[in-house]
Amino acid sequence: MEQVKNTVEDKKNLKSFSFRELVSLMRDMGEKPYRATQIFNWIWRKGETDIMKFSDIKKSFRERLAEEFFVPSIVEKQRVESEDGSVKFIFELPDGHEIESVFIPDRGRKTVCVSTQVGCPIGCKFCATGLLLGYKRNLEAWEIAEQVLRISLALGIRITNVVYMGMGEPFLNYEATIRSAELLNDDRALNIGARKITISTVGIVPGIYKLAAHPRQFKLAISLHSAIQSKREKIIPVARRFPLKELRKAIFSYYHAKKRFVTFEYVLLPGFNDSDEDIEAIDSFLKGLPSKINIIPFNPFPGSDFRAPTDDEIYRFYTKLMKLPYTVTLRKSKGQDVKAACGQLALFGYQRKGMVKPVVKR
Ligand code: SAH
Ligand code: SF4
Repeated sequence: MEQVKNTVEDKKNLKSFSFRELVSLMRDMGEKPYRATQIFNWIWRKGETDIMKFSDIKKSFRERLAEEFFVPSIVEKQRVESEDGSVKFIFELPDGHEIESVFIPDRGRKTVCVSTQVGCPIGCKFCATGLLLGYKRNLEAWEIAEQVLRISLALGIRITNVVYMGMGEPFLNYEATIRSAELLNDDRALNIGARKITISTVGIVPGIYKLAAHPRQFKLAISLHSAIQSKREKIIPVARRFPLKELRKAIFSYYHAKKRFVTFEYVLLPGFNDSDEDIEAIDSFLKGLPSKINIIPFNPFPGSDFRAPTDDEIYRFYTKLMKLPYTVTLRKSKGQDVKAACGQLALFGYQRKGMVKPVVKR
């Protein structure tokens, strides 16, 4: 059983249980199913980690639970608020590794951007996470979901949306990613609508097919960055393994299964992926697929091969893309002053440890 892996002094991790698993655990322990609701509420709403404080459960059963189980937690190490309202959190995991998550307010929407791995093994040429941090390990489902819970409790607000766009590639950690999304979606936990949970992938094709077959309506975002195969391979090492042709088939299968728009992220790398030829390639790649293209101006970091686009370059690319029959949005780079913007997760920790020079504020 999966839970056995998470032992501390031979105790099992109560946070690794889904609600349904908790119900059968209660049955196995000779308890009524409503105990599962109580425990789930303490863990996933109140964030309580001390089983003896589950005060609506009779003491004898609490003692029995505490003998066999424990409730781990990720711990907030640092919080940095940006001028634009976004807040970056650094959390310490039980094994001492650190991850980053970002709270992004946007009018009524309260979004949390979560990490799925410590670092990232892919190493895209424009991303600080993969290049500077390397890869340490996959996160467990509860470690992913808890980023949202801790931020919600820390700020005292209800989170409405979750994006899997922090550190790591979600589809290289598929099982934990989906399990965490199911946890967040559970109405006995954080109750975040499936349609408000977006999973972003660099294009790991098997993960896209699996998400297409999943019964819930989780949203898919694809990091495209170039619709020209040779160019894409230059900046995304796994693009060779999952070529655009295969990627396109997988995205269509998601669309046919869900009938939902797919979002494409496109990091604007001036002089590299913003020519007329690039636009034509995007057009033929997306033909027949209702989609939204999100332009993300490249956020530079020390040692990166690219520079940030000028406002003029952004505007020119945006107006050309607008002529295509897709919805085009321009991502305002939130949290740049605190290194919480896309591709800058990792920099803050490095700065703290004095490993790289701070990025000059634009
Ligand atoms: N691994 C997943 C999810 C995390 S990255 C993926 O790649 O989709 C989240 C988004 O930030 C991706 O679209 C990524 O391409 C973008 N990004 C990474 N580095 C960036 C940078 N330096 N500037 C702007 N966007 C960046
Ligand atoms: Fe990993 Fe995504 Fe960064 Fe690429 S862009 S290195 S896949 S986190």
